Amino acid sequence: MIQFHPSRSKALEQLQSFVENHLGLYARDRNFDFGPEKRTNTSCLSPYVTHGILSENEIIKQSLKQYSFSKIEKFIQEVLWRTYWKGWLERRPSVWTDFINDLKYLKVDYESDKNLKAAVNGNTDIECFNDWVHELKDTGYLHNHTRMWFSSIWIFTLELPWQLGAEFFMRYLKDGDPASNTLSWRWTAGVQTKGKNYVAQKWNIKKFTNGRYEKVKLNENAVPIVSDKDYVQIDPELVNADYHDQKTLVIFDNQLSFETSDFNDTKFKKILIMKNNNLTRSIELDENLMNFKNDLLVDQENRLKDHYDVEVKDISFLNNLDTTDMVALYPGVGENLDFLNQNQIQIPYLFRSLDQMTNKYCNKGFFNFKNFIPKIISQIDA
Ligand SMILES: Cc1cc2nc3c(=O)[nH]c(=O)nc-3n(C[C@H](O)[C@H](O)[C@H](O)COP(=O)(O)OP(=O)(O)OC[C@H]3O[C@@H](n4cnc5c(N)ncnc54)[C@H](O)[C@@H]3O)c2cc1C
Repeated sequence: MIQFHPSRSKALEQLQSFVENHLGLYARDRNFDFGPEKRTNTSCLSPYVTHGILSENEIIKQSLKQYSFSKIEKFIQEVLWRTYWKGWLERRPSVWTDFINDLKYLKVDYESDKNLKAAVNGNTDIECFNDWVHELKDTGYLHNHTRMWFSSIWIFTLELPWQLGAEFFMRYLKDGDPASNTLSWRWTAGVQTKGKNYVAQKWNIKKFTNGRYEKVKLNENAVPIVSDKDYVQIDPELVNADYHDQKTLVIFDNQLSFETSDFNDTKFKKILIMKNNNLTRSIELDENLMNFKNDLLVDQENRLKDHYDVEVKDISFLNNLDTTDMVALYPGVGENLDFLNQNQIQIPYLFRSLDQMTNKYCNKGFFNFKNFIPKIISQIDA
């Protein structure tokens, strides 16, 4: 059974092993879910990328050391999907706010819904779905194709709201990411690309689970969910604040590798690593996931403590501080930024150069973004 070790050293080992042994066959095999015991046909790096333990740049650079761009184009596209989703959400932050707000009334409406109860307990009439619920809870991970089938069954066969499914994923996924998760669920439902939904098919599940699931009864003729919401796009200014070694740097749980960041040559006076627990989140996380996150925070602290005055603190600690001499690695749309905004905590931000460079390409669909990938790669390499 797959296990994610909460440390950068293990993440680097996994990256190296995937690139050396499995990346060559990624394009051919990546869509197969061979089961939780056989997870080598994709990288399983997402929990590390979500927490900033590994960056997209690092993964791409390491991969290009071994293969030409054309040989691993598919993998690079997938790595940059998340960068694209992230940029897309930064340009339409109310998609996230609406999702969080919708949860409030949906939870009340569905409080005693039988389908919801059966779904979250892995107790439906659909064997594969039940197995995936248990796998998600046990491992904190599901294969990408399975996430597509899962979300489709949730929305179109069990007839549950996509928002509750997205919340369920966030509660357990070790790679739970506001942009990749929310936008993927919207995509399955047919509200991300309006009028185009993803409908899981029995033959497709059978083929790509290598025949593990044959008799799946699904609604295969579902029509897209209709939403009349249109989101106005903003053009965010990702300009770095002033920073120098007299400042305190604040880091959140999505950028936990300061030593490889764009700002690692500044000897900050102090580094504060922020822990965001369930009291300060809208979506309550599972205990295993919370422990995984906390171990990653401590791993970052341990890697920095010989060189910096560094401390892990509860995010609510920021409420009592004078933030004048602080800068923060920008946390991105999500729970950490929500906490800062709701508590009117103003800390000037430092942005990743990858996000600064790519955000403007996130204004349209991924097919448009893809055209800029060679340009993005050339700047990563520079
Ligand atoms: C409904 C649904 C919810 C999802 N929720 C999340 C989520 O919360 N967090 C998350 O990181 N991914 C999410 N994904 C995307 C994708 O399923 C995972 O990133 C992928 O399965 C991670 O496994 P891997 O590291 O082996 O991926 P690989 O196939 O090895 O890909 C390498 C890296 O590329 C990125 N990537 C790959 N596919 C995608 C994708 N479709 N979208 C965005 N990034 C991608 C990930 O960072 C991944 O680690 C979701 C997809 C769906 C359909």
